[in-house]
Amino acid sequence: MTILNKAFNTPYNTAPFSEIKTEDYLPAFKEGIKKSKAEIDAITTNTEAPTFKNTIEALDYSGEELDRLSSIFFNLNSAETNDEIQKIAQEVSPLLSEFGNDITLNEALFKRVKAVYDSKSTLDLTTEQATLLDKRYKGFSRNGANLAEDKKTKLRAIDKELSQLKLKFGEHILAETNAYELHLTNENDLSGLPEGAKEAAKQLAESKDKDGWLITLDYPSYIPFMTYTDNRKLREELSKAFGRKGFQNNELDNQDIVLKIAKLRFERAQLLGYKTHAHFVLEERMAQTPEKVTSFLNELLEKAKPAAKDEFKALEDFAKDLDDIDQLQKWDSGYYSEKLKQKLFNLDDEQLKPYFKLENVINGAFTVAEKLFGLQFEEIDTIDKYHEDVLTYKVTDADGELVSIFYADFFPRAGKRNGAWMTSYKPQMIKDGKNERPHISNVCNFTKPTKSKPSLLTFNEVTTLFHEFGHGLHGMLANTTYPSLSGTSVYWDFVELPSQVLENWCYEKEALELFATHYETGEVIPMELIEKIKASATFHEGMQTLRQLSFGLLDMSWHGVDPSEIKDVKAYEVKAFGDTSLYPDVAENCMSTAFSHIFQGGYSSGYYSYKWAEVLDADAFEYFKEEGIFNKTVADKFKTFVLSQGGTENPMTLYKKFRGQEPKPEALLRRAGLLK
Ligand SMILES: [Zn+2]
Repeated sequence: MTILNKAFNTPYNTAPFSEIKTEDYLPAFKEGIKKSKAEIDAITTNTEAPTFKNTIEALDYSGEELDRLSSIFFNLNSAETNDEIQKIAQEVSPLLSEFGNDITLNEALFKRVKAVYDSKSTLDLTTEQATLLDKRYKGFSRNGANLAEDKKTKLRAIDKELSQLKLKFGEHILAETNAYELHLTNENDLSGLPEGAKEAAKQLAESKDKDGWLITLDYPSYIPFMTYTDNRKLREELSKAFGRKGFQNNELDNQDIVLKIAKLRFERAQLLGYKTHAHFVLEERMAQTPEKVTSFLNELLEKAKPAAKDEFKALEDFAKDLDDIDQLQKWDSGYYSEKLKQKLFNLDDEQLKPYFKLENVINGAFTVAEKLFGLQFEEIDTIDKYHEDVLTYKVTDADGELVSIFYADFFPRAGKRNGAWMTSYKPQMIKDGKNERPHISNVCNFTKPTKSKPSLLTFNEVTTLFHEFGHGLHGMLANTTYPSLSGTSVYWDFVELPSQVLENWCYEKEALELFATHYETGEVIPMELIEKIKASATFHEGMQTLRQLSFGLLDMSWHGVDPSEIKDVKAYEVKAFGDTSLYPDVAENCMSTAFSHIFQGGYSSGYYSYKWAEVLDADAFEYFKEEGIFNKTVADKFKTFVLSQGGTENPMTLYKKFRGQEPKPEALLRRAGLLK
């Protein structure tokens, strides 16, 4: 038995990183799965009649060792990996999904869950228990557990076909992306492009044994070219190539696949008793129904459109003045926006960085958490770390009680993936009367200090730190009974509220004075710089909003209807975009055939959530602003009804308890400068 299958006997039960050997993982997983299976078997073979306690609760507390092990392993595979760990991940992942399927398809288990579910009204459950029961039951029913055998077979066939089509969709996009390159041999054609992007284009050409420069459809190559290149003809060429993906009537065409995916999703939803795919998806979202999503998107559209039109007109005038452009096209948008932004703001990262020394920003986040929620962060060196760069903290409340253990891992290194995220090593739960406190981690990739300079963050990195710390607080302050409802285990159109709302403190004088001081002079960041940051952050917000809304509406058009009559992907798309377009349509381009978010990834009927989350955070923060950004009463309500509640109740109910009303879009529109 490996160390990972035993009690840890460490301070706070923290992960014993230094004692884990890589070769422990595989046997540990096999043992963990075996134990979990035995726990499930004990539930299904129980001779007593099914009850909430012996079935639903037992199921939720099962698999603790396997979960602990999975957290450690997969967190390290993201933050401190190597070839060996990656190889084990490939071996372990199918074992885990097979185990997951064994549970979802376990008929004996479903029978017991259903028996409890059917007697729900007589059980006198708490709200949290009722939510858990509902979640467990739906975990089965939404996978077809209630269907007759022939329909189950049909469902499996649809699922199989869907996963093959999604795979094919993605393969086509990748192949189309890789098949295209723009080969330039005249340096004049790169005029306007920053040195770094030019250098990258040269290296790319060299790597393919070509002279000159290569531009591709990959974002790191595509975006700078579209933003900076002066040659309008070339921008048009590249933009059209980008927009043609999956829409060239060749063997990589995705039009049929789009139609098939939409139809199969609809069929699947109908089989399970839902009106459309969107109805199926949204049942487990805060927004609840396609009607709500569509009216949400249309309301924003109506309100953002006048500002967007004004911005477009100003951009047109600017392009006319500068280059005598008569009709702005899609390939002009990034280019002239950037030029106008430079002219208006002239703001660069180097001006701001001296005010954001990493240590100061960390302390700033901690101070904000202390002022709002009474939390104390004490750095400790008594627990194991998986890398020497990791900082470890003990988090306590105003009474000195343990709230959480907090890991912070801020610098890039080989073996760590890009980006920033929050995760946990141990979930919060109340078990056998004891409130088990969580172990939360934030992982980022900020610039490392050098001998002569500390780590100085860009403003974007500052908001990233606050964002992940917001997710972190959602985990740390969790206070629920059942682990599967704890912390960030909430509907995914609600999960960005705690993170995004915390970013707002980065723009407030009262908060910045606490930590944004010059690392050499100690001077507090001038407010005039902050005003500039705010203004540039909402630059062209109207047009950006319209763009986001157009994607959300397109998504709902594909998934909120019966798609059987749709024949022409492009014509349907143009109709769906309807009122959101400012630029002339490009006939040879199509968005849907390359819309990987919804046809390959997991965002179908979910694209609206980007804007939804913004509305929530702006509305929530406005409440703080009304009463004072460090107001104790509002902070207490946020902690009590949002941060500590996890997924124990419908998020709209929780939100209303905090805010007193449903979220309204006005705060976002005001913040974005879109309310006229
Ligand atoms: Zn986030």
